[in-house]
Amino acid sequence: MSKKTLVIGGGIAGITAAQKIAQNGGEVILIEKEGELGGNFAKLAYTFPVLADAKMIVTREIQTAKATSGIEILPQTELRGVSGSAGDFTVELNSPSGTRSEHVGAIIVAAGFHYMEPTAYTEYSYGRSPKVVTSLEFEKMAAENRLPKGNARVVFVHCVGSRDKAKGYRYCSKICCSYSAKHAIMMKKANPDSKAYVFYIDIRALGKGYEEFIRDAMEVYNVRYIRGRVAKVIESGSKLIVRAEDSLIGNPVEVEADLVVLASAMEPPEGSRDLAGILGIATDEYGFFQEAEVNVRPCHSSKSGIFLAGSCTQPMEIASAVAMGGLAASEALTLIR
Ligand SMILES: Cc1cc2nc3c(=O)[nH]c(=O)nc-3n(C[C@H](O)[C@H](O)[C@H](O)COP(=O)(O)OP(=O)(O)OC[C@H]3O[C@@H](n4cnc5c(N)ncnc54)[C@H](O)[C@@H]3O)c2cc1C
Ligand code: SF4
Repeated sequence: MSKKTLVIGGGIAGITAAQKIAQNGGEVILIEKEGELGGNFAKLAYTFPVLADAKMIVTREIQTAKATSGIEILPQTELRGVSGSAGDFTVELNSPSGTRSEHVGAIIVAAGFHYMEPTAYTEYSYGRSPKVVTSLEFEKMAAENRLPKGNARVVFVHCVGSRDKAKGYRYCSKICCSYSAKHAIMMKKANPDSKAYVFYIDIRALGKGYEEFIRDAMEVYNVRYIRGRVAKVIESGSKLIVRAEDSLIGNPVEVEADLVVLASAMEPPEGSRDLAGILGIATDEYGFFQEAEVNVRPCHSSKSGIFLAGSCTQPMEIASAVAMGGLAASEALTLIR
């Protein structure tokens, strides 16, 4: 029986799992395929529902993980092979400095999500016009102080690639209603002369303070919410024209915009099926890692000794990824003790 745990993925779910195990006397190897920890959280400027400083929080959590004894962090490292069973796995880890073999008792998969490139949505002019960006690109623009100035008009479009069986995914990405409200508020705070419009199908905001946050976008920041699916975004000189149907009044509606922001789908992490194949665990129909029992064992994979944490199981916000990281850590500690 090995007392070590391998954590795959250095986003907030993996960082939390590693911290909790080490703080409780366990040993962790945390592998991250990129050069830095932080995952998608590190790409955000602010976080809903309180507009907290994302960089400050994620940097603090990374530093805590780095300063905690018992955690070995291996950047640019991926899993190449696994053998053995719960309590007694042998793993092959590959990095630019070569391959190394380790003996671990438990494995936590925290490989996160990938943000869909909405290239299939040619009707929205994504990839054709530099003024049509994804919500993740909007975060980058905000962090770099590049949001439109003056009396700019910015349109936010919900459900791009989600709830769309034809061109995207059937599921709802769960948090884009909330982060689009965050973006509209960020826009109004950065530039009070701007106008923000949100096209939605229906609002899904289940979480403490989320509903109130979206209400504030409407009532405090005067963001205009229009119920209707956007049909087309057309370039017209230096502007964009957004065409939709207002489904509440049944009329076509047109908004001139300087920037259009697409709330694209959160999809399974790249290579999730290959990673699942190496680990010998199940994925769902989309490629997210499959929970053994979604209601009562959300952190258990289909194989004993391999646990799941965060958005590699389904789209989720930071608080849920942190909660799952903690739960996966406690399951791993229970096993190796
Ligand atoms: C536009 C946008 C805005 C958002 N705004 C908010 C917000 O305001 N508030 C909020 O609560 N949430 C927000 N979120 C959601 C937030 O980003 C996620 O909840 C959070 O990043 C999930 O953390 P995670 O650790 O599960 O996954 P990730 O952040 O995706 O981290 C996974 C990590 O695993 C690594 N990895 C993947 N595969 C492997 C592998 N095979 N081997 C090794 N490493 C691997 C990745 O490189 C990455 O570092 C937003 C998301 C988006 C897209
Ligand atoms: S969270 Fe909102 S924007 Fe995102 S897919 Fe669900 S309904 Fe659409």
